[in-house]
Amino acid sequence: MKIDEVQSTSRKQRIATHTHIKGLGLDASGNAIPLAAGFVGQVAAREAAGIVVDMIRQKKMAGRALLLAGPPSTGKTALSLGISQELGSKVPFCPMVGSEVYSSEVKKTEVLMENFRRAIGLRIKETKEVYEGEVTELSPEESDNLTGGYGQSISHVIIGLKTVKGTKQLKLDPTIYDALIKEKVSVGDVIYIEANSGAVKRVGRCDAFATEYDLEAEEYVPIPKGEVHKKKEIVQNISEEDILTDVTLHDLDAANARPQGGQDILSLMGQMMKPRKTEITDKLRQEINKVVNKYIDEGIAELVPGVLFIDEVHMLDIECFSYLNRALESTISPIVIFATNRGICTVRGTDMTSPHGIPVDLLDRLVIIRTDTYGLTEMIQILAIRAQVEEIDIDEDSLAYLGEIGQQASLRHLANPWHAIQLLSPASIVAKTNGRDRICKADLVEVTTLYLDAKSSARLLQEQQERYIT
Ligand code: ATP
Repeated sequence: MKIDEVQSTSRKQRIATHTHIKGLGLDASGNAIPLAAGFVGQVAAREAAGIVVDMIRQKKMAGRALLLAGPPSTGKTALSLGISQELGSKVPFCPMVGSEVYSSEVKKTEVLMENFRRAIGLRIKETKEVYEGEVTELSPEESDNLTGGYGQSISHVIIGLKTVKGTKQLKLDPTIYDALIKEKVSVGDVIYIEANSGAVKRVGRCDAFATEYDLEAEEYVPIPKGEVHKKKEIVQNISEEDILTDVTLHDLDAANARPQGGQDILSLMGQMMKPRKTEITDKLRQEINKVVNKYIDEGIAELVPGVLFIDEVHMLDIECFSYLNRALESTISPIVIFATNRGICTVRGTDMTSPHGIPVDLLDRLVIIRTDTYGLTEMIQILAIRAQVEEIDIDEDSLAYLGEIGQQASLRHLANPWHAIQLLSPASIVAKTNGRDRICKADLVEVTTLYLDAKSSARLLQEQQERYIT
């Protein structure tokens, strides 16, 4: 048996509780539909978030960020996820908590940088083209103009290919050109060329693969030499675009942080699932950026900026904030959404106080949206949605009872669906042990005696202070 590195599952779990959120649930004019896309209530915040989505689309959020300010469990994470979903399918969403930057092994700014790169996607496309045609001679002038003359130190050779759509000039890598020479291809021969996103991948003489399906014989038969040209009277010029994959820049960093990592973007992807062996360094990231930029220039890839969600932003310190100020200026920044439930407090690493513990220069860049606590009806609706998603059967009375638990549970006497949502799974297990599929109130009463909410736990600690180590 081998001991493997323990991979953190917190990121996945953080998203798992929001699987019911499918967007912001707004109508065409940007008004929040009371219950839509998995969202309940929080109308003003959803509508404000919708406007931010429009600003992002119009590129008006460049250099700016969003701050969601509101009590715990008022849907700040859910709103951010909703925003990323409104921006398009497969837009990366990377949630993190401010305190994550404090690791004994990794620099704070390094943690931020890694998460920034997790929130930037790269969509890799491939345009496949197949040309068949007769090799034509380019005038010496034409080919000299284009190549500087073959034989000198050039990176490609141009040949002309007469297709049904006219003469096409194609750039050939000298090795491919040599392959054609070896095949004794000359002017007038019919050849085929396969290119992927502009780069010629395969060439050959058509008679080298000259078989065709004979309808009468119902089998493939060889085509007599010399007939190929006539038989293939339909000279193809197929072009198709395929989205090969969506990855994040961090996936590429991690995949390439291995000694055996190749330069080819697709081979990088193949290695992605293997555990990381070496550190991701700045130098490596620069290399990756270079390769990525090249692919973008060639039209093979495009960047998909996603959403980086930083909860409990007041946990970051001044060093992190100055890094963030710079990172937001970068041309390839994701949409950064901060969340906090703090009012005026000290900016960590300084003795200054500031709203939300965020330095004023960063605050100036922020668009701020408030989230509010839920009423009982909304709380019950959220619980009903979660129960449905988790395939948990629960009767109306129990839902209402659970809603009330949610209303009382928070430390600050604010409605908190989170504690109530967490009770759903254990209650369903209790119901099953009691021989039922459907949760009833008695199951909830039983689990509430087993699990403490934050408020009761704090009260108990206070009452029994002398029994705990201080
Ligand atoms: P915190 O910042 O304290 O972690 P939060 O404000 O990010 O909390 P969420 O984690 O988004 O709150 O909300 C808690 C749970 O309630 C999640 O499962 C979330 O999906 C769900 N939820 C919150 N608000 C809504 C809503 N308006 N509609 C549907 N589900 C919601």
